Amino acid sequence: MTAQRASGHGINLDPWLSHYADRANGLSASEVRALFAVASRPEVVSLAGGMPFVRALPDELVKGALDRVMRDQGPTALQYGSGQGVPALREQILEIMALEGISGSVDDVVVTTGSQQALDLVTKLFINPGDVILAEAPSYVGAIGVFRSYQADIQHVEMDQYGLVPEALRQAIAYLRGQGKNIKFLYTIPNFHNPGGVTLSAERRPEILQICRENQILVLEDNPYGLLSFDEPVPPALRSMDEEGVIYLGSFSKTFAPGFRVGWALAPHAIREKLVLAAEAAILCPSSFSQLAISEYLNEADWMGQIESFRGVYRERRDTMIASLEEHLPELTWNVPNGGFYVWVGLPADLDSKAMLPRAVTELVAYTPGTAFFADGTGRQNLRLSFCYPTPENIQLGIRRLATVINGERDLLATFAGTGPLTPSTAGDNVIAPPPDMN
Ligand code: PMP
Repeated sequence: MTAQRASGHGINLDPWLSHYADRANGLSASEVRALFAVASRPEVVSLAGGMPFVRALPDELVKGALDRVMRDQGPTALQYGSGQGVPALREQILEIMALEGISGSVDDVVVTTGSQQALDLVTKLFINPGDVILAEAPSYVGAIGVFRSYQADIQHVEMDQYGLVPEALRQAIAYLRGQGKNIKFLYTIPNFHNPGGVTLSAERRPEILQICRENQILVLEDNPYGLLSFDEPVPPALRSMDEEGVIYLGSFSKTFAPGFRVGWALAPHAIREKLVLAAEAAILCPSSFSQLAISEYLNEADWMGQIESFRGVYRERRDTMIASLEEHLPELTWNVPNGGFYVWVGLPADLDSKAMLPRAVTELVAYTPGTAFFADGTGRQNLRLSFCYPTPENIQLGIRRLATVINGERDLLATFAGTGPLTPSTAGDNVIAPPPDMN
């Protein structure tokens, strides 16, 4: 086998191109990924990624947990463990879920390597190529990547300031069924949506469940941000209202630290066994060390107090971002999230978030273009700003720089006015509803 490499010209032809499985076609570098490389330069203010501010987690809390794990349970922590996860941690996970109204059995909790792996396993279990997954418009870029990798047909459903729109869901299901499509599940992020920032209202929750139940559509409820509310707690989880029809996903990434890579699924009892088998096939077992460390942290540390302190940090950053937008970019539209990490911004009709990004990076500010959050590349009139990681001062600086970029872009467009559109519209036809105006 001779590898065809022409690295001198920057070309790297993959000699195995003809060997890839069809599903590998869905694996292409996301915009977020490409951005991380540029945005990690220290001079760039990154409003792009969704990294939690782990510096707000006191070192002693983590060190104490790690030391105790090694002192008291070293050999277990360093060993393989159960494919379903450490029983003590699964009990503690039940207590956490109880905060959002969920009661479940420890038997139905499956610990995973981040909730990202749970997304992967559930998709692997349910999706044949061409099966439909319904997802909010917009939706989490990492979920879109997983769904693509299993060749799902991702269909977006309209969302407004109260979350997923039940009537749009009904219409989407009827339309797709009319086309003979096989709809497997609804993927939804009901609390402090990534990237939309909105929370599904309490009134809509039973209605969404009812629609899915009537149509035999499984619900995949992804809830990594639910405990990070700035004002009042979120409404009860979808899973708390339907044990048989909802797979619930949770994570320690945003309320503790993503470096441990521990998340979980609470599956309907009927599904749990297959989920565990799929997890074992993929990774044998989740990290014993990480699970025991988190279990120890939950036992010994004031973890609720720590979440409260995270809330305070993120609330202040949200306030700073909104105030800066009001001051410097009043011509844009945005929602004011009551928790989580993200503000979803609408641009005036003449601007294109994807085309504008290189200019933004030149001005030393990064954001995620809206196109990352739609399966068909729509979303050019939106962008996502994250307030979780940069300090309030850097948020202010970043928004000032963004204003320079946007004003410069508009001046440029004014110069070329009358010469036709600079960027073609890429609206695809597999979006059920247009992106929401979430101001
Ligand atoms: N779901 C959503 C909506 C997310 O925003 C993220 C992380 N950005 C994940 C799942 C994955 O989180 P983790 O694997 O770290 O638990």
